[in-house]
Amino acid sequence: MVKRQDPFPRTIGRVATVIAVIVALCLPAGFFGLSYQYQVGAMRAEARYSAAQTTQYIVLNPEMWRFQVLRLNEMLGKDLTETTLPEQRRIVDASSQAVAASGEKLAPPVLAIRAPLFDAGKTVGYFEVSRSLRPLLLETGLVALLGMALAAAVFGVLKILPLRALNRALDSLRQSEQLFSKAFHASPDPVMICRVRDGRILNVNDSFVRLTGYAPSEVLGRTPSEVALWANEENMARAKEQLRSDRAVHNLDMTLVTKSGEHRDMLVSSEMAEINDEDCVLTVARDVTEQKRAEQRMAYLANYDHLTGLPNRALFHDRLAGAMQRAQRAEHLVGLLYLDLDRFKQVNDSLGHPIGDQLLKQVAERLQRYVRLSDTVALPSARDEGVSTTVARLGGDEFTIVLEDIKHIDEITRIAQRIVLDLAEPFDLDGHQIFVGASIGIAVYPFDDVDLDNLIRNADAAMYRAKALGRNNFQFYTDDLNANAEQRLLLETELHQALDRDQFELVYQPKLNLRTDLITGVEALLRWNSPRNGLVSPADFIPSLEETGLIVPVGAWVLRTACEQAAAWTRAGLDLTMAVNLSARQFRDAGLTGVIQSTLVDTGLPANQLELEVTESLLMEDSAGSQATLTRIKQMGIHISVDDFGTGYSSLAYLKRFPLDTLKIDRAFVKDIGVDADGTAIVRAVLALAHSLRLTVVAEGVETIEQLRFLRETQCEQAQGYFISRPMDAAAFVAWMEARYAGQTDGMTPFRAGSQA
Ligand code: C2E
Ligand code: MG
Ligand code: MG
Repeated sequence: MVKRQDPFPRTIGRVATVIAVIVALCLPAGFFGLSYQYQVGAMRAEARYSAAQTTQYIVLNPEMWRFQVLRLNEMLGKDLTETTLPEQRRIVDASSQAVAASGEKLAPPVLAIRAPLFDAGKTVGYFEVSRSLRPLLLETGLVALLGMALAAAVFGVLKILPLRALNRALDSLRQSEQLFSKAFHASPDPVMICRVRDGRILNVNDSFVRLTGYAPSEVLGRTPSEVALWANEENMARAKEQLRSDRAVHNLDMTLVTKSGEHRDMLVSSEMAEINDEDCVLTVARDVTEQKRAEQRMAYLANYDHLTGLPNRALFHDRLAGAMQRAQRAEHLVGLLYLDLDRFKQVNDSLGHPIGDQLLKQVAERLQRYVRLSDTVALPSARDEGVSTTVARLGGDEFTIVLEDIKHIDEITRIAQRIVLDLAEPFDLDGHQIFVGASIGIAVYPFDDVDLDNLIRNADAAMYRAKALGRNNFQFYTDDLNANAEQRLLLETELHQALDRDQFELVYQPKLNLRTDLITGVEALLRWNSPRNGLVSPADFIPSLEETGLIVPVGAWVLRTACEQAAAWTRAGLDLTMAVNLSARQFRDAGLTGVIQSTLVDTGLPANQLELEVTESLLMEDSAGSQATLTRIKQMGIHISVDDFGTGYSSLAYLKRFPLDTLKIDRAFVKDIGVDADGTAIVRAVLALAHSLRLTVVAEGVETIEQLRFLRETQCEQAQGYFISRPMDAAAFVAWMEARYAGQTDGMTPFRAGSQA
């Protein structure tokens, strides 16, 4: 990885060589030089001294001295200095002719030192001392050998020790390089080294190769831009800029593009580093794609409902808060629609949760479709209205819709109308055609409240009003509603106690046979004698009973009480059919047929004197369960009638599938008789079709003689309504009957002969 051509070993070698050479040369040279100097000094002193003595002798014998050989030899024989070198002394005349000499002839090389001999101021000869330097040279040779040995040692010390240290340093450097290289390649994060000079990639690690899909040969020597490695060139430019100023960048969010074109989210850190004497950028990137996705998923889960994909309660709150702020600035309105499905619980209970989930998804789709797409069919979408919207699911079957940029309440009305219609259309759930419907409560910012929580509470209260008003409609919030919400809670608590405390009672409303003009039956209607509110209308508490499930035990009580009453009247000679209302909730109770059976057995009422009124919605659910239950009830010999017919979008043809006996035309149509041409036509049509299906028809809510006449003319079999009688308690009913038939002796009474209840 990092290579260094180190000059140290060579320099160290050179220095060591020079020092060794110096040692090797200087030692013998010094030795020789010093010895030589010493010899020269000693010889010169000796020569001078001897010359001085000889000169004295010459002065005494000026003419004869050169012939006094014995005397001269004596002078030559005096050893003045000690020396290990072989020495010869000579006295020579001025022409260097030897006059006397001592010792042997010397082996070369020879060093000779002379001192002059004087006579009367004239040089007459020389005293010469010669020494052979051979032993000195031999010694010098030995010293040279010693010097070389010393030089070798010095060389060794100077060169080998530092080199060894250097090598050790290099080794550890190499090791750390290897370590770096290992770490570089073993790093789970992609690493890339680029040269600053030209931006070219010098090295990439294995993770880089694995993640990007590029082989090293495909990227080395190219710049990241050439490889198109980063999705966002601007980000890269910014990173470069920061790198230049700070020499490092940390955890920059960048998007890497792999060879296959996949985008990966990376957290990138870069640092300047000098590698091989080059300025480089070391870039480490961490792949945070999965982490990012997980974060996004978490954020999604925190803000969206996983079933429908709609914003959840948290996000809804945010959006509503934002909408309110914007509306305040723009002086617009915000419409908050609080929507609750009317028959979700039934679907869920009867068809199971998976179907319930399907329904919620379809509802979400319808709401979104309405909000998003321009409706190409007939009605305008929210977008066409220039309104921006958020649909959210708060949980269960509760949805909210935030309508922004509202300038006039009418816009909200139109949209709410459209949604109610939309959701009243049947849903296709796994082959079942299900009518669900929705009740919507509407609160308008800033009219109904400027506080977010209050606004929601108000829309919720309005939704309950919509439910109470027969469902499948929308209601705007009014100030009295909150009081209602609290009352509702109280009501539920009280209803729980009502059955135990005997606060329920039944009233009976007679049915008139229009052919015979006889009262042939009664309908049992529930009343609640509340200690707090007096007699409460079923419209006010039946929905609560249904929601809480209390309708099951209360319904069983109604059935038993009504059957006991009918049986008692029969025993007293008054033969009447007893009609009892059943709510759809009771049908989802597995014990229903058992309860009916045992009630008939216990009370002794013949099955054909019992009539059960079921709601249209029950039939529309069209669950296999309710169809089977109805068939079993029918097989017991009990009559089945459809209550409030015409209010629930069902078709007559549809009714063929059920074992029905009677249709009860809803009061809403009867009241239009003679008033509204369309209403009259509807009643006629229903009668004609019902008869073609061999169903008898009961007109509900007959209040006028005109209505009664019309019904008679159109062959309607029975009528029920205030015109005939209001519902009464049992005693009042008997009294009413007796009064009605008093004095009638033609047998045209419901009383059996001789009996009076
Ligand atoms: P429903 O079964 O359609 O009963 C007829 C309702 O119309 C009764 O209201 C009755 O008092 C009212 N009515 C009858 N004739 C006239 C008329 O000429 N003009 C007007 N304006 N109203 C008339 P009520 O007793 O308040 O009952 C309301 C609903 O409560 C019933 O409608 C029925 O659906 C439900 N209900 C009553 N008792 C029971 C019960 O024991 N069990 C169940 N499940 N539901 C019941
Ligand atoms: Mg009824
Ligand atoms: Mg009715």
